[in-house]
Amino acid sequence: MAVEKLRCKECGTEYPLEALYVCERCFGPLEAVYDHSGHGDPEELRRRIQAGRADLWRYADFLPLEGPPPGPGNRTFPLAGLPVGYTPLVRAERLGEQLGLRNVYVKNDTANPTHSFKDRVVAIASARARELGFKALACASTGNLGNAVAAQAAAIGLPSYVFIPADLEEQKVIATGIYGTNLVEVRGTYDDVNRLCTEVSAEHDDWAFVNINMRPYYAEGSKTVAFEIAEQLDWTLPDRLIIPIASGSLFTKIARGFEEWRELGLVEGAPPVLNGAQASGCAPVANAYAAGLDFCQPVKPDTIAKSLAIGNPADGPYVLDLARRSGGSVEAVSDDEIREGIVLLAQTTGIFTETAGGVSTAVLAKLARSGEIDPDERVVLVITGDGLKTLDAVRESIARRAIEPTVDAFEASFAFGAVA
Ligand SMILES: *Cc1c(COP(=O)(O)O)cnc(C)c1O
Ligand SMILES: [Zn+2]
Repeated sequence: MAVEKLRCKECGTEYPLEALYVCERCFGPLEAVYDHSGHGDPEELRRRIQAGRADLWRYADFLPLEGPPPGPGNRTFPLAGLPVGYTPLVRAERLGEQLGLRNVYVKNDTANPTHSFKDRVVAIASARARELGFKALACASTGNLGNAVAAQAAAIGLPSYVFIPADLEEQKVIATGIYGTNLVEVRGTYDDVNRLCTEVSAEHDDWAFVNINMRPYYAEGSKTVAFEIAEQLDWTLPDRLIIPIASGSLFTKIARGFEEWRELGLVEGAPPVLNGAQASGCAPVANAYAAGLDFCQPVKPDTIAKSLAIGNPADGPYVLDLARRSGGSVEAVSDDEIREGIVLLAQTTGIFTETAGGVSTAVLAKLARSGEIDPDERVVLVITGDGLKTLDAVRESIARRAIEPTVDAFEASFAFGAVA
């Protein structure tokens, strides 16, 4: 396997491939580093990828495991866990028409086992945790990560501990508890939950906290979104992506995925423009972008986009840098715009997204309407979670009326107009 070591993103100090996540010298974040010299030419590498598994392990050469991926052929870990990734890239003609754009695509990551992109990061973190011999999976979650950890733990037979803010959407809480996880509901914000988990992880050193002590491995899972998009566009790069931001990890790793493939000659051309998407009720990165700052000032979240409600985003400064260098931006949209985004996406593509996807869709609409996007650009809207997880957000957005079971009542009801 090609992964070599961990390296500090700030000062470059190198570390072995262990459960480490902060640099001892400068407290910078650690990142996986690869040696791709043994791959052969791009054509050969493309063929190998195309012959691979129909899940994210087809990109194993770019993922931080030392042995083969879990599953058939892996004698140490024959249980593959849930098949993750390989989600559709859908051409969204009707959405594009509404916005005056000719080439809009939706990366539909609701089509994962627990209906969000978090299954990707958990697949990688849990596989690496097994390689390192951890006895339990754990996480600090804004909801979707908890779903993914609880389900993956059930599939591979490890105990799990999921820490969430106590005010999460009921759908997400039930869809996590059902897997038999130890659910810890904390009275506080996500940032409080995260701090608690950092303390708990120091006490329980045989637990893999997927987004804390496993973070360098976890984060690599998000690169597979970029790899899939490039492969689905027939080994080309899109012109622009709209990406929702919580901690900023997905955003930075999508950028890294494209960069890694450009460096190897797997894809050619200019790197895509990257637009980050946040809710104005929790927009530390968008605020910093608008103010021209290169760091984020923490905020206290207040938004219906709970999966994005991280007030102190770890990767904020990297997002700001990447967004600016790509010619993109980081935008914020209101809760009403988020609801309109959910409705717009549903009614033009048939894809029902949770609030985070409403944020991305609303940002796409805002940029398109302001003339920021050339009508011919190939734009990918990254939809990261399923609408069934956040029903409360759109309860008022549909018209409902019950009728008596007679044809007259039916006809009369339609005279009012069936569609709100
Ligand atoms: C976690 C999450 C994100 C963003 O995650 P990052 O922390 O920025 O990597 C986006 N959408 C959904 C639905 C999420 O659950
Ligand atoms: Zn360092």
